[in-house]
Amino acid sequence: MKKEMVCINCPRGCHLVVDTETMTVTGNTCIRGKNYGISEVTNPVRTVTSTAKISGGEINRVSVKTDKPISKKLIFACMDEINKLSLKAPINIGDILIKNVLNTGSNIIATKSVGKKNG
Ligand code: SF4
Repeated sequence: MKKEMVCINCPRGCHLVVDTETMTVTGNTCIRGKNYGISEVTNPVRTVTSTAKISGGEINRVSVKTDKPISKKLIFACMDEINKLSLKAPINIGDILIKNVLNTGSNIIATKSVGKKNG
């Protein structure tokens, strides 16, 4: 079977065709496209981005993401873990908020700093 997809690793957006029997990839311009094509038909992964509740801060949500892509199958479970967070300001960009989320080897980190609310 052949699967078609667009490589999302750079703005060039090469049109890939993966032969799922031979695991060969065509249409890629570089090795990243080949790796992406094979990963998409074996274990597709994505970086998860979201926001988490925070109390006592200048704003009441902080943007977060996984520091490594995780299996697409785990995205909803990962969102649930993020929704369970109950953080307190201050939070600094890069802080690890959940270590090794769902045993994926990826951490949930803050992508924004949130200082304490004044007064
Ligand atoms: S195959 Fe390489 S050049 Fe083409 S979109 Fe992917 S990363 Fe970019």
